[in-house]
Amino acid sequence: FSRWEAMLEEIIKSIAADVFQQNDWGEPAQYIPELAAVDPQQFAISVCLADGKVISAGSPTKPFSIQSISKVFALVAALGRVGNQLWSRVGREPSGTSFDSVVLLERENGRPRNPFINAGAIVTTDALLCGRQPKLALAEILGLVRQMSGSDSIYINDAVAASEQKTGSRNKALAYYLKSHENLSNEPDLTLGTYFHQCAIEMTTEQLAMAGRSLAGLDGAPKVISQKHVRRVNALMMTCGHYNGSGDFAFRVGLPGKSGVGGGLLIIAPNVASVAIWSPGLNHYGNSYAGTRAAEMLSRATNWSVF
Ligand code: GLN
Repeated sequence: FSRWEAMLEEIIKSIAADVFQQNDWGEPAQYIPELAAVDPQQFAISVCLADGKVISAGSPTKPFSIQSISKVFALVAALGRVGNQLWSRVGREPSGTSFDSVVLLERENGRPRNPFINAGAIVTTDALLCGRQPKLALAEILGLVRQMSGSDSIYINDAVAASEQKTGSRNKALAYYLKSHENLSNEPDLTLGTYFHQCAIEMTTEQLAMAGRSLAGLDGAPKVISQKHVRRVNALMMTCGHYNGSGDFAFRVGLPGKSGVGGGLLIIAPNVASVAIWSPGLNHYGNSYAGTRAAEMLSRATNWSVF
């Protein structure tokens, strides 16, 4: 351990201590019953540094539901498969609306604003599916996630997928609306089934921080995505990764990030570090409450920022 790494370990420990001192954790996502049952008073943080070393605090080996963080991996896979054609079906602008909003879809003729709101993620998964069996597309996403994190012990939680399948009326509405605009090329139920299962992937913060290496350009990262696409994915994470809370996240943290309603966060400090944080209680945007605070403390203490 270098002196800097020892300092960083102190910083991370004190962030975890601060989080556990607070009594306000936010509430886990209520609309997916399996997630609503998770104890909110949990926290984990893992930081993977340029040399590939991972420093953690809290419970970094506890798997959690990555939910919308899977949209980053699906996007990487879709860009690899269909390349720039994806942008004819989904935009690159922040939406300023909640993650599951329908309102802009009608105004903009069924072309979702970006690949990180649900409508845009459903289109991205649909592009990745492209007529195949859902299990093949899922194997591709899961294989990519395992390759990026360098870990084979990453799985889909079928109970979480089934839970969302049962209650996911909003996503079904989005998928059928996309279909009415001919922006869905598979049967809605097949695309949705794939999407719900990709969201139900479980990872630990250690695995997720490792998976971010390719986007952060760190040593030892597998070459799964071109440099051009890395920049674009990071730009989208910065502008759209936290939905209508993206501006607030950029203001407070200053780094590209992607949240999920499972309370996870993936944060990229280009050429410096890949950070994963988890705490299942959410703020009013549906992003991790304690996780966002921890990210803010980390960027302040380290001076990591793209600005
Ligand atoms: N599976 C969730 C949904 O589609 C993902 C949303 C999120 O993590 N923000 O609603």
